[in-house]
Amino acid sequence: MTHRRDEQFPSRSVALPGPPPSPGRDPRLEPIREKVFSGQRLSFEDGLLLEETHDLLTLGEMANYVREQKNGSVTYYNVNMHLNPTNVCVYRCAFCSFRADLKGANAYVMTDEEILARAREATERGATELHIVGGLHHLLPYEWYYNIIANIHRYYPQLHLKAWTAVEWDWFSRLTKRPIRDLMIEMRAAGLGSLPGGGAEIFHPEIRSRICDYKADAQQWLDVHRQWHELGGKSNATMLYGHIEKPYHRIDHLLRLRELQDQTGGFQTFIPLAFHPANNPLGRNLPKPSGMMDLKMIAIARLMLDNFPHIKAYWQMLGVKTAQVAQSWGADDIDGTVVYEKIYHAAGSDSPQELTVAELERLIREAGRIPVERDTLYRPVQRKQPLAPAQPQEAVLPA
Ligand code: SF4
Repeated sequence: MTHRRDEQFPSRSVALPGPPPSPGRDPRLEPIREKVFSGQRLSFEDGLLLEETHDLLTLGEMANYVREQKNGSVTYYNVNMHLNPTNVCVYRCAFCSFRADLKGANAYVMTDEEILARAREATERGATELHIVGGLHHLLPYEWYYNIIANIHRYYPQLHLKAWTAVEWDWFSRLTKRPIRDLMIEMRAAGLGSLPGGGAEIFHPEIRSRICDYKADAQQWLDVHRQWHELGGKSNATMLYGHIEKPYHRIDHLLRLRELQDQTGGFQTFIPLAFHPANNPLGRNLPKPSGMMDLKMIAIARLMLDNFPHIKAYWQMLGVKTAQVAQSWGADDIDGTVVYEKIYHAAGSDSPQELTVAELERLIREAGRIPVERDTLYRPVQRKQPLAPAQPQEAVLPA
């Protein structure tokens, strides 16, 4: 059977379906936009509207304005390495793909030699920071955690040790029956540099009780950071988004952080952490957060946390491409070279394990930003010569 040409290819006069309606500008954002451009603080209700809108471009415009007011066109990165000394954990957070049972087939506890080998490798690769977090082991005493800090600092004092989430500090206090403040003073004297922001998840009890009951609650998490700030220390903060929480839980979370920051000024960076659903009970029927949600979380964080100096697009969680774009949606930091990331890869992250300095700088420059290597405390790092990638080291005790 033959077809006439105009049967196969409809003539130009046939009406084609038009483009879908554009989300366009959301006029409801105009009062918020005025507040942002005049430096006024946003309210809880403003935050809910930011959550509700589909106007990603206006969100980005506002967040980018704040980002450039605070950090110009600079995007920070650092040369760091991760160390997760054990994955054995007494808790069973519903979102966690990293933990193992005490006698689980995948359980591990690193030896002193392995820990020091990791610190040596970090040093030889030019890292300025070791990020140290792990599980809450059923049997290991507080002294095991203390000695990790003391040993690494003894042999590699040039490494800044950013260690132990608020949940771990709460655990140390339960183990020792000693005040957290005393433990912090002791560990700082042994070489602790600052606190990471993990363990915050979602503060609101409606969600926290369902995803990580038993471990340190919101008040305890905030109290740990308050105490560290009162000792003159710096720390970071996080939020795990994109699972069963609702927009008002997220805005509540951000405002609790903003309130503490008003009082102490000790937070440096906020890091929105995208939920990864693989290999954990919470993720059974949940998709990964979308690209739209990832960018909105960065922008909303930048807008609501007006007293946080930095917002980080953590490429291990967001993926490299989204982290790159996020530099125009409020982020001024994309984290570091990392290496040996276990926690999010166990949950299905398909990011690479490591980015070189050259790759990080290219990602930043392509986004039209100026790359600046920082140390943990956001001081620029000057290097006499570029870093060369090194090979992983054998576990050998330093002389
Ligand atoms: S998130 Fe942390 S505290 Fe919770 S189960 Fe995993 S390792 Fe343990």
